[in-house]
Amino acid sequence: MTSAATTVDLDRATDDLVGILRDLIRIRSINPPDPDAPDGELLVARYLARALAAAGLDPEIVEPVPGRGSVHVRLRGDGTGGDPLLLLSHVDVVPAPSERWTHGPFDADLAAGYVYGRGAVDMKGMVAMELSVVLQLAAEARAAGLDPSRDPIPGLRRDVLFTSTADEEAGGAAGAAWIVEHRPTWLAAAGALNEAGAVSMTVAGSRFYPIGVAEKGYAAYRIRVRGTWGHGSMPRDDNAVVLAADAIGRLAGPEVTHVTPVMKRSLDAAAAVLGGDAGRVARAIGAGNDRLAEAVLDGLCDPRDALVLRALLRDTISPDVVHAGVKYNVIPGDAEIEVDCRVLPGTTEAAMRARLVERLGPDLGAVCTIELIVWGEPLEAPAEGGLYDILAATIRDHDPAGIPLPVMVPFATDAKHTAALGVPTYGFSPLMLDADERLLDRFHGVDERVSVAALRWGLPVLYDVVRRFCG
Ligand SMILES: [Zn+2]
Repeated sequence: MTSAATTVDLDRATDDLVGILRDLIRIRSINPPDPDAPDGELLVARYLARALAAAGLDPEIVEPVPGRGSVHVRLRGDGTGGDPLLLLSHVDVVPAPSERWTHGPFDADLAAGYVYGRGAVDMKGMVAMELSVVLQLAAEARAAGLDPSRDPIPGLRRDVLFTSTADEEAGGAAGAAWIVEHRPTWLAAAGALNEAGAVSMTVAGSRFYPIGVAEKGYAAYRIRVRGTWGHGSMPRDDNAVVLAADAIGRLAGPEVTHVTPVMKRSLDAAAAVLGGDAGRVARAIGAGNDRLAEAVLDGLCDPRDALVLRALLRDTISPDVVHAGVKYNVIPGDAEIEVDCRVLPGTTEAAMRARLVERLGPDLGAVCTIELIVWGEPLEAPAEGGLYDILAATIRDHDPAGIPLPVMVPFATDAKHTAALGVPTYGFSPLMLDADERLLDRFHGVDERVSVAALRWGLPVLYDVVRRFCG
């Protein structure tokens, strides 16, 4: 499985990996749990534990809520290399209404070189890759006459932790958040590798590998709007629905661009290798010129890319829920708006709330109260040195034409929980995709799929990263 491994070895390892992935997809571990099969996450945890035990390891499962299982195993190094490396993943998937899928979302069909199914990219493919690496390390210990459940794995100076959690898709209360409280040693590490990064993205002929080093934070608010109840036959200005509509209009526009250091580095690096229009887009955005950036995004970018880029360049405010009214002829005196705000590293909850107050203005501010529903800190891991440099170098070794870049993602993962333990956590689930395959369309999407070739490339990358960081 190493760079020096034979093609035959890699073919066999890839076949095993694909087999594991297809087994995992067939277990319907959806979140929220399916009432007909409420223990899908536990079944995935048990599947993984069985494979680990069969390799001579000693896995543990926790089930803080019935049916919601997380699994963990530790491989020992000789203890001279520092804190462990964590291979982090989640066992749950989002629901998949099957209507528009061309392959059943839980059938795990293998067609034209692709494995189809819910979880193929988010993130059972990475679960299978991480498991495969752990099984390989255990096999190497057994081949040396050692007991991998007790003895150090040959060549490892740090421990390797494998932890796959329940409930990531709904915030982790029944998974990683519980583990932070009750089993912190399952996560405590010098660094962690997690989902949603190092998946190749071809732009204007150049193949980039965006390594996730930062995640936006989130702040959800409930805004209560106070009007006056009345009879629908006599319209009034302080109808709470009318006030709420005005409030939503004021909240909905874009915030100003703010290029964070990670985005600046990423855009400048992209601009340096991209020529033509794509290079101009990256340079204009990196320069932080709001008007120029908007113009190039509109004119030159694929609209789907523009959506992601816009979200990464500013704090965002999205009013997503409105509740008001009881009957068509009753003027409502109360309304509620729920707002999803996503914040860049550096923006505090107080600052985000202050922006909402400012947008509402003194007139609407006087009739609105703002209540925080949930807050998650934005995260940043070092984008140079140590583990990051190993990640970038290993990608270059396996794809000499590839360009690794540090990036921020607009969504949140279990990294918010490892961050609570001070663990720098990287989005690093290495896959080399075909130039026209778009990962973000597959995430939580229809016909989620991953190619066997992409996995075959990623597996030795992940193995080499583990060997290099822990060796
Ligand atoms: Zn995920």
